[in-house]
Amino acid sequence: MRLILLGPPGAGKGTQAEVIKEKYSIAHISTGDILRENVKSATPLGLEAKQFMDSGKLVPDDLIVSMVKDRLKNPDCINGFLLDGFPRTVNQADALEKMLSELGISLDAAVLLEVSDQTVVDRLSGRRTCKLCGAIFHVKFRPSAKGTQCEKCGGVLYQRDDDKEDVIRRRLSVYYEQTSPLIKYYEEKGLLKRVDAEKSSDTVLTLISELFG
Ligand code: AMP
Repeated sequence: MRLILLGPPGAGKGTQAEVIKEKYSIAHISTGDILRENVKSATPLGLEAKQFMDSGKLVPDDLIVSMVKDRLKNPDCINGFLLDGFPRTVNQADALEKMLSELGISLDAAVLLEVSDQTVVDRLSGRRTCKLCGAIFHVKFRPSAKGTQCEKCGGVLYQRDDDKEDVIRRRLSVYYEQTSPLIKYYEEKGLLKRVDAEKSSDTVLTLISELFG
């Protein structure tokens, strides 16, 4: 199965992707996670991407496209993959189509997780991430049993620079300007599936599973 997860930041793409990848034994490819790994290890890509990420802007298409191209060659993609956070521009979507046709494969669906702007702000501004293992908590909806430390590994919980409210608003406007045209793009290809992502994450997973049986 080859899927794209679409939707604004905070729609729950990462959370759903973690479960879907297990359920269907496919690779989870999150461009945001790959970029954050590169920032953490201070690779040339990470150093270049950081300034864009911290301010809520998109990293230039050429960097992202070659990163995904490399990732899709990994053997774990043979069974299928789930793209989370990519494509984010029409240009990236065109590049993806070209990549897939070179590999002789095609997409099964683009799943759009629909949520309101207020839900995005509430979810992201309360999100806390573990510095050591990357586990995700929420000050209100999913607090850590160890307070400001990760209940899994004891690492310090921090707020990502791009989860601060002014940056969230910027990321939302970037989403509407640059990413939301992909809704029509995939609709016209007959690939778009809409899911109400205001619901609890368990319900959203059920709705997604119903799409694929
Ligand atoms: P995410 O975790 O998917 O919200 O991504 C965090 C940040 O990484 C975004 O705000 C962008 O700066 C950058 N990023 C992730 N994926 C892409 C992409 N496909 N195109 C451009 N920038 C991206």
